[in-house]
Amino acid sequence: MAEAMVIDGKAFADALRARLAEHAAAFAHQAGRRPGLAVVLVGDDPASQVYVGAKGKACEAAGMASFEHRLPADTSEAALLSLVERLNHDPEVDGILVQMPLPAGLDEQAVIAAISPDKDVDGFHVINAGRLAVGQKGFVPCTPLGCMMLLKDRLGDLSGLDAVVIGRSNIVGKPMAQLLNDANATVTIAHSRTKNLADVVRRADIVVAAVGRPEMVRGDWIKPGATVIDVGINRLPPAEGKEKGRLVGDVAFAEASAVAGAITPVPGGVGPMTIAVLLRNTLVAAYAHAGMTAPAGL
Ligand code: NAD
Repeated sequence: MAEAMVIDGKAFADALRARLAEHAAAFAHQAGRRPGLAVVLVGDDPASQVYVGAKGKACEAAGMASFEHRLPADTSEAALLSLVERLNHDPEVDGILVQMPLPAGLDEQAVIAAISPDKDVDGFHVINAGRLAVGQKGFVPCTPLGCMMLLKDRLGDLSGLDAVVIGRSNIVGKPMAQLLNDANATVTIAHSRTKNLADVVRRADIVVAAVGRPEMVRGDWIKPGATVIDVGINRLPPAEGKEKGRLVGDVAFAEASAVAGAITPVPGGVGPMTIAVLLRNTLVAAYAHAGMTAPAGL
């Protein structure tokens, strides 16, 4: 069988960011201000620092304003909540993102609940989760929305396709399953207690793996021709003499590519989509706050 088509998430994300930059410039021209994203980082987790830096840079590159708030790890919950409250009322800020995980002692759910749902561009607020559950417009978490864009680009209409989502987290698995259901796929959610996972996955025309276990999904789990979206980002232990291990997904890429019809690589697949969709959600928020109609197809 021929090798799977490799879905180039980086190229897709770059094209989306270029379109967003054009819309952001048009917005700024009409509204007299740039769309703005506030990113809050508490503590000095190295991975979080990299993510926050990347989000700020991506914002500026797309012609959006980035407001970074870096707070010490011993910040009190009251101080964090009062910053969120200030950002909720700041007319320059359209989106608020508090980088997770928060240092021990800070209640993540309380902080998410404090963000105005209309500025919750991460889509983590219970109001936005509820809107997604009942089919109302709201902010959808960036990673699953990015996966959906790649799937629709590859497959067009998903009606009647069998989809298996492995993982049921609030930020990836659950919203992913809801989006697929909304797109008329027949959806199975698999998780750590699922029996005969390989057999469940073998039925799927679409596999979305969001587990966090390196190369868990093997090639012989994949139905020939299936579309495989690998959300996992796992770092393997470093090879001898190397400082860092290789990044791999939740899917054994080489094996799965020999069977699948299309597959996202790690890195360069889903990862770049997450930040691009964050910018997209921020722009949507900006249009809403300005009382303007967002361009079609955003
Ligand atoms: P999580 O730990 O919150 O959830 C993992 C899910 O996997 C759970 O629902 C659990 O039931 C399921 N699971 C665990 N072991 C399993 C097993 N043996 N078989 C089947 N299911 C099992 O993780 P998450 O936040 O949803 O993230 C999942 C992965 O996606 C991680 O590797 C994470 O780094 C990555 N991720 C990537 C992006 C991105 O931008 N590409 C964004 C978010 C998360």
